[in-house]
Order: sequence, then structure tokens, then C-alpha cells
Amino acid sequence: MTANSKPNLFGLTREQLVHHFSEMGEKPFRAQQIMKWIHQRGIVNLDAMTDISKKLRETLQESFALELPEVVEDYPSSDGSHKWIIRVASGSKVEMVFIPEAGRGTLCISSQAGCSLDCSFCATGKQGFDSNLSSGEIVGQLWLANERLGAYQPDSNRIISNVVMMGMGEPLLNFDNVMAAVNIMMDDCAYGLSKRKVTISTSGVVPAIDRLKDFTDASLAVSLHAPNDELRSQIMPINRRYPIQELLRSVRGYMESLPDRRVPVIEYTLIKGVNDHRQHARELAELLKSFPCKINLIPFNPFELSDFETPSNSSVSNFRQILQSAGFTVTVRTTRADDIGAACGQLVGAVADRTKRSGRHLRKADEKAGKVFDNTDNLAVSADS
Ligand code: SAH
Ligand code: SF4
Repeated sequence: MTANSKPNLFGLTREQLVHHFSEMGEKPFRAQQIMKWIHQRGIVNLDAMTDISKKLRETLQESFALELPEVVEDYPSSDGSHKWIIRVASGSKVEMVFIPEAGRGTLCISSQAGCSLDCSFCATGKQGFDSNLSSGEIVGQLWLANERLGAYQPDSNRIISNVVMMGMGEPLLNFDNVMAAVNIMMDDCAYGLSKRKVTISTSGVVPAIDRLKDFTDASLAVSLHAPNDELRSQIMPINRRYPIQELLRSVRGYMESLPDRRVPVIEYTLIKGVNDHRQHARELAELLKSFPCKINLIPFNPFELSDFETPSNSSVSNFRQILQSAGFTVTVRTTRADDIGAACGQLVGAVADRTKRSGRHLRKADEKAGKVFDNTDNLAVSADS
């Protein structure tokens, strides 16, 4: 739905469109026509949809909206990456980043404005939660990036081959809208992205992971960041509610529900002196020894409100070496788009910090002293219900 409460054509899945058309007495194939115009040809003017009768176009105009978020800032990076700040209907700003690599182009998109989960190393977490993005606002990011990159020009090749939900917010706390958006991204009448190339990254909202298989077969990345519950609970409050073994059980259940042999990516942000010791690597190898996965190491990206530091190259490579020797496939995420503040966890941009910083600093001091703080009441785990 949009601000004027008409359903937004951008965010409707094929199934939802078929349903609307059948209520209007129209044939189901109208859904495919509309999706192709919008998502494949980049047309957002109903009058330009020439294979749809004038009468039906008028009805659509009355009953539906065609609303995109607004791009408010545009930052090209010297390394070919690109960051856009967009304003969504709630008035909040979120960010998306395009990262070109040999043979593929990845778009990192946001699912929420802010985030309620308060991971201690994450700039988005420092903002607190603001609002969920609608499915149209999530898909709209892909549409906007395509348009900005020229993908809707005649004879243009597909530029964005991969989408990762690693921008702002926790995708599984905006479950219905994220599911609809992912569904549209993978629909052959829309963007036709492969299920292997659409990745939902989660900090571990277990009840939502348990439901995932009934809604999608997209790929999964799991933010683990620590090899034991004590440490994980210190840096990721969600671990108090859903500890590591529960999380791994849930992720395994989802992966086993998929017909192909896909494995999840375990994301591990390396923070100097916190979780980057050799002993942590050995403990991680032990934890995951019978858990099929790939491991992606992300050297911590610093930001203003954090005292954490990036580990040295040698400790990153030691950590990697220990995991590789234990038989894991390990990648290290190279920092891209650093010059435009678009690296992982830096997606805070011009958005106001809504936290009470003094409280935050006290809590950070507690964390450093190894004390457990209890703020699980703040977790807006709507997927629980
Ligand atoms: N909420 C989801 C997706 C968004 S965060 C999640 O937590 O998985 C995307 C990834 O960036 C996560 O793995 C997150 O832990 C990581 N990240 C957050 N802040 C970071 C920082 N400052 N440096 C490096 N990685 C960070
Ligand atoms: Fe939220 Fe993910 Fe950041 Fe944690 S890492 S605060 S879950 S966006």
C-alpha cells in the first residue's frame, strides 16, 4: 500500500496481481503484461502500456498507485561502485549500493529504515528502528538502480545480476514485504534473478527462518560474528533470545528444504581484539565442523560512533588460514566504496542518529567489561507471531 492507501503496482507479486485482475473481471495474463512493462522495460507511465486497453488503463489509474522512492543523493565511487540515498514514504532515508565485479554486478539493498537489533558493531543499529520499507520500496531500489545504470536503455545488457539484502535493516523483521519483494525479483516476468543470486542476510531471527521455506527458496547468509554464545550475546543482543545452536538448527532446516545443494554463507565480521584471535578461529571451526557452509570474513568497517577497530591484515589472514586448514571455503570481503561510506555497516549516511548516545556509551562500557546487558525487550521480533 502507498501513502494514499492504493496498492502500489511496484510491490505486487504476480499472484497478487492475478488476484486483483480476477476481481476486476480481467484475465490472469494481464498480470504478466503489467510486470513486464514495469520491471523489464522500465515503463512507469500507464499510458505507454500499449497492449492494455485504454479502458483498463483508466481503471488501473484509479485503483492503483505506481510509486517509487525518491533518489535524494547519488555518490559514484572511484572504484566503480555507486551509492544512492533514497527517501521512502515514511520520510526516512535509506541507502543502496551497486558493486560491479568481474562477470557480475551486485546491488546491496535496504529492507528497513534503521534497525531495532542494536548489534554493537553496526552503524545502522546505532540509529534505532524507524520504519519497515514496503515491498514496492524494496523492489523499487532494484528498479531505480537499473534505471540509473542505464539498464532500461535499448540494447542494454543486464547489469545487476545479484541482489543482497545487506543494506540497512533486518530483512526477516519485515517478513511479508521482503518475501513479496524477493518473489518479484526472481519472477521471470520481472527481473528473473536466479534463486542463487538473491541473498537474504539475517542476524538470526529464528522463528522467521523457520517459516522461510514456505515463502521462498532464495539464498541465505547468516551473521554469526562469534563462535560462542557468551561473546555473541555481547555484540549481538538477538543472541540472548535465539542462541547459536537454535540458529544453526533453524538454518540447517531451511537449507535442507531446498531441492538443490546450496549452503548458507556464514558472515563473520572481524573486530580487532574482540573476536579475531586464533582461538576464536579454532572455536569457529569446531562449531561448524559438521555444518555445511561457506564462510565470509568481513574486516570491521569503522564508523564515527564506534570505538571498535579493524584488525590487521595479518590477523585476518591468520584467521582465514586456520579455517581453510580445517577444510572450510573462506572468502574475505574486500572493502569497496570506502570513499563514499558504502562499505558494510557504514550505511548510515545523512540519516539522523536517533539513539541517546550517553546511554549507548554506558552500555558499551558494560560490554567491554564483559557484563551482560539485557535489552531483549527492545527486539521487535514481529516474526514471532
Ligand atoms: N541485518 C542483516 C543484514 C544487514 S547487515 C544482518 O545483520 O545480517 C549486513 C552485514 O554487514 C551483516 O553481516 C552485518 O553483521 C555486517 N556489518 C554490520 N556492521 C558492520 C561493520 N561496521 N563492519 C563490517 N561488517 C558489518
Ligand atoms: Fe540490524 Fe544487521 Fe545492523 Fe545488526 S548488523 S543492527 S541486525 S542491520
